[in-house]
Amino acid sequence: MNIDGFFNENDKAIYEKEFRDWLPKRIFDSHVHVFDETNFPVGRGLSEKHPGRKFSGTFTVEQCLEIVETVLPDQAFSMNCFGSPNVDADLEAASKYTGKISNNKNIFGMALVSPKDDIKDIKRRINDYDLIGYKPYRNFVDWMDAEEVTIFDMLTAEQMEYADDKGLAITLHIPKALRLADPSNQEQMVELCKRYPNAKIIFAHIGRAYYMSNVVGFLDGISKCENAYIDTSMVNHPGVLEYAFNHFSRERIVFGSDAPIAFLRGKSVEINNQYAYLMGEDYAIGSTIYDSDKIVEFTTFFYEQLRGIKEATSKAGLSSRELEGFFYNNMNDLLTGIKI
Ligand SMILES: [Zn+2]
Repeated sequence: MNIDGFFNENDKAIYEKEFRDWLPKRIFDSHVHVFDETNFPVGRGLSEKHPGRKFSGTFTVEQCLEIVETVLPDQAFSMNCFGSPNVDADLEAASKYTGKISNNKNIFGMALVSPKDDIKDIKRRINDYDLIGYKPYRNFVDWMDAEEVTIFDMLTAEQMEYADDKGLAITLHIPKALRLADPSNQEQMVELCKRYPNAKIIFAHIGRAYYMSNVVGFLDGISKCENAYIDTSMVNHPGVLEYAFNHFSRERIVFGSDAPIAFLRGKSVEINNQYAYLMGEDYAIGSTIYDSDKIVEFTTFFYEQLRGIKEATSKAGLSSRELEGFFYNNMNDLLTGIKI
């Protein structure tokens, strides 16, 4: 892959000035989407403005590691990955690819799982491909209105019981427009953790709380659950991150990027109790505001996330041990503890 121009002089200067002396030597990215061409049925690939297009419609392990080498030049890199959970995705093929590239040492993989998948197929996916957990997605619940979907609709009781038996990890992108603050999410997040105490539930994007009013007061329920984790992927808001470090067990907060989206140029910003992605490139990733006039020079979401984390962990007073835990040990311990 040609990544010329992906990483420019400005990015390099940011790394030198802001990250080189601060980042721990080992980084475990808990939230990476990797997919080759088998992820999508022929002719039904990515939409026109899908961020995956930046990397020619795939984001293979080779593409990922090549970019990581430029973005994190001094760090040993581990990752937990899964396919791209679009409605058109071939969940079996995507899970097979994830299994093929995983070694359960520094690369771990999760199976894409729909509630429509037979439990026999799930067991086979986990066992045959040596995967350590599930990646469900709201869009797979396609028989009801998207806003009606609740957490318990996303995985069946049978699927959850199997995850509980095996002690699998589940990266959960919670539904509902109100996200972390949604009353049914608040109830079901805790209920899920309690009902399946051996499953490890990783709430992605801090429960999708990208702005202050969505996070304040809403981590209390899951913070009491020993099997609840949060990943910080795509959160670059220093206030949200600092709040998480002060109101949730630091041993259960894990770094995640949401690559390849994290490798686009942009920044998430809070606006009047909402948020938007200010984008330096013309890709659609949700609530996007594209800077078509090139008013500002952007760096990647990845670096904006690191900036937010740096400010938040410094204000929250994390020790270097806690910082290493957040960036590596917490996730590594969690996944290496899963016996599949
Ligand atoms: Zn993601």
